[in-house]
Amino acid sequence: MSTDSTTMRDLLAENTMPAADDLIVREAAGIRCLACGHRCLVKPHRAGTCRVRFHDGEALQTPAGYVAGIQVDPIEKKPFFHAYPGRDALSFGMLGCDLHCSYCQNWVTSQALRDKQAIAMPNRIGPDELAEIAIARNAPVVVSTYNEPLITSEWAVQIFERARARGLTCGFVSNGNATPEVLRYLRPYVDLYKVDLKSFDDKHYRELGGVLENVLSTIEMLMELGFWVEIVTLVIPGFNDSSEELTPIAKFLAGISPTIPWHITAFHPDYKMGDVGRTPPATLLRAYEIGRTAGLHYVYPGNVHGRVGALKSTHCPNCNAVVIEREGLRVKHNRMSQPGRCPDCQTEIPGVWEDQPPKRSTGSGIPMPLY
Ligand code: SF4
Repeated sequence: MSTDSTTMRDLLAENTMPAADDLIVREAAGIRCLACGHRCLVKPHRAGTCRVRFHDGEALQTPAGYVAGIQVDPIEKKPFFHAYPGRDALSFGMLGCDLHCSYCQNWVTSQALRDKQAIAMPNRIGPDELAEIAIARNAPVVVSTYNEPLITSEWAVQIFERARARGLTCGFVSNGNATPEVLRYLRPYVDLYKVDLKSFDDKHYRELGGVLENVLSTIEMLMELGFWVEIVTLVIPGFNDSSEELTPIAKFLAGISPTIPWHITAFHPDYKMGDVGRTPPATLLRAYEIGRTAGLHYVYPGNVHGRVGALKSTHCPNCNAVVIEREGLRVKHNRMSQPGRCPDCQTEIPGVWEDQPPKRSTGSGIPMPLY
């Protein structure tokens, strides 16, 4: 395995296909890419900001035909708490990202081609093979994650076409730097969409290589287009953990819909933020109160094993009964007898539910990396 970025670039250039017509506009100076909010004008023989979509002189080439990581683990790890609770999901990721977050927990794959320390190898695989793996592992959901899936949307669609034909549900775990064009392109194939809302301060977003407004617009568009949406905010000490920042996030989400699940997860030191401490449980509890006060029905603290008690469980917003009891990433008891209803007072609990869901997690709860 070579660590040389030129070699890696050559290797990736072999695993490509032309961009979808829906995601490009040809202009005099180059090809405008619509796959993410950067909307790069990619000139001949140059690459976009993500480094993985490039103009070969004739077409905009996009990644295809490989994965850099694939794993089966609980869907609660994505996290989706209101979709297929207790089930496993097959996750796959590629290389590259349109942002460059200094605390990225998947930097080895996301920052490939941008950071020489980020070494991950592409493994060739076909879309049918991925769908078959999901079925063989009893995973009803396939998720594009680890790197930013928007920049590899065409490849995800190829996989999801095969997966949906076999009765599987598909999802994106994304930074939310989308465009209306890419969301409309994805909608026939993607039902579940998790967005990282990293901050409510545009200056913070610029530091990460993004724009706050793009992410807020994405969340609104996802809801309008009928995706099932869950939001994650990684709460980082000294970056976004002030009440002044968490409160407008919670109010923004509650203003769209009080039933959007908001996951507030604890940071652990990683990548270029090794000197920042872990998020104290008390901070997550404060964030929880902020979310509930803003009117959100479902606020879930995460990444603090065993220290947030019953708050990881889904409670009925009307009678407060425990509907789905969780311990860590495992469902201990799913009491839902009718899909999407509280078993005690019949109040609607929005989400993507199976007709006959498992009462408890079906998988081992142990991540199974395949490569
Ligand atoms: S996916 Fe985003 S960063 Fe990459 S070329 Fe397209 S617009 Fe630019």
